[in-house]
Amino acid sequence: MNSRRDFLQKLAASAIAFPSLSYLTTAAPLTGCNTLHDGPVLRVAIMGLGSYGTRVAEAMRSCTKAKLVGAISGHPDKLKSWQTRYNIPEKNCYNYENYDAIRNNPDIDAVYVITPNALHKEAVIRIAKAGKHAISEKPMSVNARDGQEMVDACKKAGVKLLVGYRMHFEPHTLQVVGMRKSGQFGTVRFFQGLSGFTIGDPTQWRLNKQLSGGGSLMDIGIYSINGARYMIGEDPIWVTAQEIKTDKVKFKEGVDETIQFQLGFPSGAVASCLSTYSMNNLDRFFLDGSQGWAEMWPSTGYGPIKGRTHLGEINQPIVTHQTVQMDEMSGIILQGQQPVVPVDGEEGVKDLKIIDGIYAAIALGKRVDLQL
Ligand code: NDP
Repeated sequence: MNSRRDFLQKLAASAIAFPSLSYLTTAAPLTGCNTLHDGPVLRVAIMGLGSYGTRVAEAMRSCTKAKLVGAISGHPDKLKSWQTRYNIPEKNCYNYENYDAIRNNPDIDAVYVITPNALHKEAVIRIAKAGKHAISEKPMSVNARDGQEMVDACKKAGVKLLVGYRMHFEPHTLQVVGMRKSGQFGTVRFFQGLSGFTIGDPTQWRLNKQLSGGGSLMDIGIYSINGARYMIGEDPIWVTAQEIKTDKVKFKEGVDETIQFQLGFPSGAVASCLSTYSMNNLDRFFLDGSQGWAEMWPSTGYGPIKGRTHLGEINQPIVTHQTVQMDEMSGIILQGQQPVVPVDGEEGVKDLKIIDGIYAAIALGKRVDLQL
């Protein structure tokens, strides 16, 4: 029989699986300004000073291996206010017309693109051509073909491309991934991912296909897609999907409201997922294996993430996701470190291939095979 003590001992042993995650020793939420560490520091410009861009900027105040040094915006007033708020020099501020000149700026290493989904592709390609590393928010683009072009452009330019998958660095998530890898759930056969919220303002870009590329699936369903892969630890080989639309005014042609989808994996494991813009309380992952299970609820919100398994509660430190993400991404970009769960452009393309497959399965009304 497994006791809680056994569990805690195994957990202590499994900490070596995350050697670069120094934040795991921090018990309290990360707040306030830290001094930068001795090694290389990733100097980042944020493009798109909106809601999430601001959240990342605030979180970066506590980074030790990454520093916010620049901004790109369509609004001069926002640039002015960011200069004061984050101590950004004017020479590191750009607009969407002139940011190619970033190539001549030796004080910026990387640009983090936090604009509407359909704008990520052009931005990442221009950043790569300017010789800077790129971090793209999720979804990396609006289809796999565009995503592959982004990967190719960054390869050609010799720069790195990462996707803002903050959960790949979240301690509760990494504990479940570590337990699955060490066989503590036995043979994994089933994952359930529920991702959704009720969307408000009908005029926002998320409900405009030109800017969003789709609907809930692109925005929030992608967490269940990506989560199915890192929780099960395989890439799916087929997909089936069904769309439900209750409000055809708010959710126009090409903007999905609710989609259920099922993924099949090479081992025979299956995932059953829901993506929606019209239900609340849906942020839950469940993984089932022959010898155990894990539940994460909430599973992908800003936190605190909560998890439990057949062995008990998961008690990992509560961190600010974006602080940890940016420090870890600094290590990946500047020092070639390997994350436990990949966050590179190829990873982004895999999720886009699944999204393409889900839309195709709905259009065709049948199962679609996937080749990731
Ligand atoms: P917002 O609308 O709050 O901000 C987007 C910003 O993009 C705008 O403020 C604007 O900045 C810039 N922008 C450039 N062109 C346009 C345009 N045509 N229309 C609207 N905005 C434009 O969106 P979010 O910050 O919520 O989302 C941005 C990206 O971040 C999305 O890809 C989203 O999926 C992702 N995201 C990721 C999250 C995560 O947890 N990883 C959470 C939330 C969002 P400016 O005025 O400075 O030009």
